[in-house]
Amino acid sequence: MNEHLSKETVLKYAAGMLTAQERQNIDKHLDGCTICLAKVAHGYAKSHEACVRAQGLFAAYLDNALDQQESDFVQQHLLMCDSCLTKYDVLVETRVSAESFLNEADACDNSKSEEDTQMEKRLKEQCQQVSTEPKTEEMQKSKSRDASSPLNKKKRT
Ligand SMILES: [Zn+2]
Ligand SMILES: [Zn+2]
Repeated sequence: MNEHLSKETVLKYAAGMLTAQERQNIDKHLDGCTICLAKVAHGYAKSHEACVRAQGLFAAYLDNALDQQESDFVQQHLLMCDSCLTKYDVLVETRVSAESFLNEADACDNSKSEEDTQMEKRLKEQCQQVSTEPKTEEMQKSKSRDASSPLNKKKRT
């Protein structure tokens, strides 16, 4: 039991590729060996296989459809791996919003609040343009009337 874990064993452990019996032996060793515990933590964070496996289990993990060993692996991996935790959070958010229309509406409101204020500004600008446009048209009409009336008089005479 004093033998340290091999790199391969650590990576397999981190990736959850060992049998329950093998894991138990390693867990016992890790209880008394901080060196290997650090190796395992490193393995959790660095193992690409662990990430692929964890991400493949996310959906079943959310459905509580995993057995104890698999859900333990996902749980432990999320504690060690920030990039997987981020992806997991995104998955949880999309799930929650898909399941709840209210939450989705809230999320939409929050994301569009800035657009809404911009829209309000545009609408106000348009209103100001609309309110000024008839005045200029009237001014032009009255001017053209003034300009045309002497011409009409001249033509008549
Ligand atoms: Zn050790
Ligand atoms: Zn990962």
